Amino acid sequence: MRISGSDQRYEVGDVIDRLMSVDVSGRGFIAKAYPLARQRAGAPLVQVAGDSLLKAIGDRKGAVVFIMTGATSLRPGLDPHIGETDGPAGAVALARTLALACGVAPILLTDPGQGGMLSRAARSLGLYSLSPDAVILQASQTTHAAAVAVLEVAASETQADLQAAQWMESYSPVAAIAIEKASPNEKGVFHNSSKLDTTPGKARAEKVFQRMREAGVLTVGIGDGGNEIGMGAIREELAVCFPDLTRCECPCGGGILASEPADCLITAAVSNWGGYALAAYLAQVKGMPYAAHSAERERRLLEGCADAGYMDLNGMCTPGADAMPSEVHQAFVKLLSVLTLYPALDLGRKGFLDDMIAR
Ligand SMILES: [Zn+2]
Repeated sequence: MRISGSDQRYEVGDVIDRLMSVDVSGRGFIAKAYPLARQRAGAPLVQVAGDSLLKAIGDRKGAVVFIMTGATSLRPGLDPHIGETDGPAGAVALARTLALACGVAPILLTDPGQGGMLSRAARSLGLYSLSPDAVILQASQTTHAAAVAVLEVAASETQADLQAAQWMESYSPVAAIAIEKASPNEKGVFHNSSKLDTTPGKARAEKVFQRMREAGVLTVGIGDGGNEIGMGAIREELAVCFPDLTRCECPCGGGILASEPADCLITAAVSNWGGYALAAYLAQVKGMPYAAHSAERERRLLEGCADAGYMDLNGMCTPGADAMPSEVHQAFVKLLSVLTLYPALDLGRKGFLDDMIAR
């Protein structure tokens, strides 16, 4: 017998939240950060973000959602600002689900010089890279967009702010999602998890986010370390829990914690997982499990990211993310796949799950 509650969105949101919060690699952030974000949200994080997105998108086909991503890694001997696999993979998977399940025209925003890499990653999930106008046309006039647009945000604050104003006027986005997208601290300095100043060359994506918030457009932040856009929403609480993050290895002395908040915050053990988790929630609510990510697609996506030149946290361009191999991420997505069929108990009893999970 299944013990049923009255609010299925809450139930599925809660179990997805629990899954994305398992600290598999022992990083030590999520166990304390999740309760802070959950207390602020007052409900499961994917439910609050997912329901807010569905409300903002409404019944409109071709509504534009900006998805910003692109963590960068500084490695001696390599070009500066090599993109990491954590972030872009989650952004592409979420873009696919938003396009297929919600009729959205996804526009991806990333760092200078990384547009080509992100386009290649999108291609590994079957998404073409087209101009924003072409993606909006597809999403409006066909069953769904089979493409994303990829734009590069400038590293100059002034230039990024001008871009933000122009893109808002041209595309009238209904929401902006940042996934593993660095935010400056309160002194305007960007830091990586090694607490080094990574400001030069970095996309000033927070300028786009700030324009969105000022215009009352929904903002969603997804992160796993405290220095990403969105984490500003619980900055003071994070500073109390993690005093170490209030210090840095650069002269600014401001620590690595993000200053930029978001309406909805999703903390996850791995940022990509937060994107996959939100996609799974949306697919479940829309009754479209095939629009969610899958383990097989995750395998292809991480290979696509590696082929495009993205770097795993271990410094190699192998298919993995946050220093965990592809199989670990595939296993996470496989568990999520069951949740897109929530509650899957009856399907399992009838023997249908064997066929439905492999896709
Ligand atoms: Zn600093």
